[in-house]
Amino acid sequence: MSFTYLDNNAGAGLAEGVLDTMLPYLHQQQGNPSSSHRFGRYAQAALDRARQQVAKLVNAEPAQVIFTSGGTEANNQAIAGVAERFDSGKILVGATEHPAMLEPAKRLQQHGFELDLIPVDDNGRIDPAKLAEMIDDDTRLVSIMWANNETGVIQDIAALAAVCHDKGVPLLTDAVQAAGKLPLDIRAAGVDMLTLSAHKFGGPKGVGALIVSPELDWPGYILGGGQEEEKRSGTENVAAIVGFGAAAEYVQSQIGDYQAHCSKLRDRLEAGLAEMPGVTIFAGDAERLANTCFFALQGFDSDTMLMALDKQGFAVSSGSACGTGRQTPSHVLTAMGVPDMIALGAVRVSVSQQNTVEQIDQLIQVLAKEAERFNHLLNR
Ligand code: PLP
Repeated sequence: MSFTYLDNNAGAGLAEGVLDTMLPYLHQQQGNPSSSHRFGRYAQAALDRARQQVAKLVNAEPAQVIFTSGGTEANNQAIAGVAERFDSGKILVGATEHPAMLEPAKRLQQHGFELDLIPVDDNGRIDPAKLAEMIDDDTRLVSIMWANNETGVIQDIAALAAVCHDKGVPLLTDAVQAAGKLPLDIRAAGVDMLTLSAHKFGGPKGVGALIVSPELDWPGYILGGGQEEEKRSGTENVAAIVGFGAAAEYVQSQIGDYQAHCSKLRDRLEAGLAEMPGVTIFAGDAERLANTCFFALQGFDSDTMLMALDKQGFAVSSGSACGTGRQTPSHVLTAMGVPDMIALGAVRVSVSQQNTVEQIDQLIQVLAKEAERFNHLLNR
């Protein structure tokens, strides 16, 4: 049986050429980038190049890039800076953020900070006027993701950044799902801190970045040998960072084709779903990532549907990978006002350039059969 991978928001495969670019740095592992001999300089030169490639993906300066072990660490680093820099105050975090942002934000409460969640509308979008109302003199940081991992909903980051700047508060943006899928320009959007993860767009797992505006001297919190300009100590994972850089360059060159291909598949899937009884497509009317469709079929809970599809050769998800197996509805859907009954059936399909029209047509057939089976039982 052939197997079709449709869970690219959880993890995408290595992009073309990335493994070959990494291999020399796995074969010649011994050089530490902090060493001044030729082996060290070889590793350092590789880091410099990758830093340029990653910076270019979001139109930042290479000096703004702090390499981390992934999106989770980058988010933690950014949030922890609040407690390093201030004694008290408040942070505002989008209600539909990934747990990698929500959990460190909740931890700040233990240090005496207040946490307010920014509500979203029924399409998962944050209203800039609502944000403006919520920011006050005690607000230290606002955190709003560029695109949501479950629904694919894209926020108007430039408008939200303008509100933050008007009030003199920095904006942190988790761009883990947006990178490689949308053109990103940190300067044009006015984002002060932005986080990335390589494995979401064709780089290896376990590497990411926190990108900080030069105007914002944000403290790091991993102490040690002073790597990454004293912001994130620890010997760099050179091969992984090289792969991150190569993937960043590759996806940037592919973004137009990627969007055209993925939206064709996504729209085809949604047209097929629309023919089935009792289907909900979450945030179907909102601007979304081209590759993401989050839906529920009446009569199925997420786990039953995931297992049924797995048996028939399709790997999909119920949303955020770390939420798989949960019995509680997605906090993203709850924040959007989706009733629990429907939210508990949520299934996410996230495609890539490797997926084909034939695969989507097969998936539609399988889903249609499942829906028919349920309706048959219902009407017996
Ligand atoms: N932020 C978002 C929006 C994500 O989707 C994820 C992973 O699913 C993360 C952060 C965490 O990134 P990483 O897997 O690199 O730790």
